[in-house]
Amino acid sequence: MRLILLGPPGSGKGTQAQRLVQRYGIVQLSTGEMLRAAVAAQTPVGIKAQGIMASGGLVPDEIVIGIISDRLDQPDAANGFILDGFPRTVAQAEALDDLLRKKHLKLDAVVELRVNESALLQRVETRAAETRARGEAVRADDTPEVLTNRLANYRAQTEPLIHYYSDRRKLLTVDGMMTIEHVTREIDRVLSAIGEREAKAAKKASVKRTAKAAAAKVSKSPRKGAKAAGKGPGKAAKQVTKAAPKAKKPASKGRKKASRKLPAGSRTGIARKTKKTVKKVTKKRAKA
Ligand code: AMP
Repeated sequence: MRLILLGPPGSGKGTQAQRLVQRYGIVQLSTGEMLRAAVAAQTPVGIKAQGIMASGGLVPDEIVIGIISDRLDQPDAANGFILDGFPRTVAQAEALDDLLRKKHLKLDAVVELRVNESALLQRVETRAAETRARGEAVRADDTPEVLTNRLANYRAQTEPLIHYYSDRRKLLTVDGMMTIEHVTREIDRVLSAIGEREAKAAKKASVKRTAKAAAAKVSKSPRKGAKAAGKGPGKAAKQVTKAAPKAKKPASKGRKKASRKLPAGSRTGIARKTKKTVKKVTKKRAKA
């Protein structure tokens, strides 16, 4: 299963992605997480991204596209993946299409978590409080001011992806305002529906392929039969017999034509003779 989770910050993408990981045995590829790790390790990418992330801006496309391309090549992504936080712009979505095409991979679905913006601030505040309670460091971009900026970015740059994927018939929208459990169940439901649809389509395609192959075999057999006929009986004879319906037709037509050419009486030849005899008798009778 290869999925994208789409939704504004605080829509529950991370939580649902973790559940999908368990359910389908696939990996979660979160560009936000990878960038935070790069910042923590102070790699060249991390150093570049640090300031942008702290202000709620978007890290340049070429950086995130490079990260994702490398990550897709890792063996653990071979079984499938969930992209969380990527793509975030139409340019990234186009780059992803290119990457997947080159890697001969097909995207199964894009799950959009739709939420009320008014609830997001509350959610992000709750997330920060829970993180603090666990004694962990709160994300630098989980503040009301930065969230406002991240939301504005989402609206301007990421929301167009809803049309992008709906045009490509990949979009599945789920109400993200329900409880975590309900959202998980709903995602499960929409994903199994596409699973069934794809299984049906695959079955239909295989039936079509089999029928086409059978038709091709039949249309080839007369030539095969004709070639083999000179070689003697056996398989060749069988093939000729298969082709026989075509060969039979002209013969039966010929017979029909021949019988149509003959006058009704000539079918035996007796009728004409009988007529002549009757005429002779009548002439004799007249003379007498
Ligand atoms: P997230 O954890 O997905 O909310 O991402 C945290 C931050 O990382 C974002 O606010 C961006 O600054 C940056 N980021 C993550 N993913 C991307 C992306 N696909 N394109 C650009 N910037 C990103």
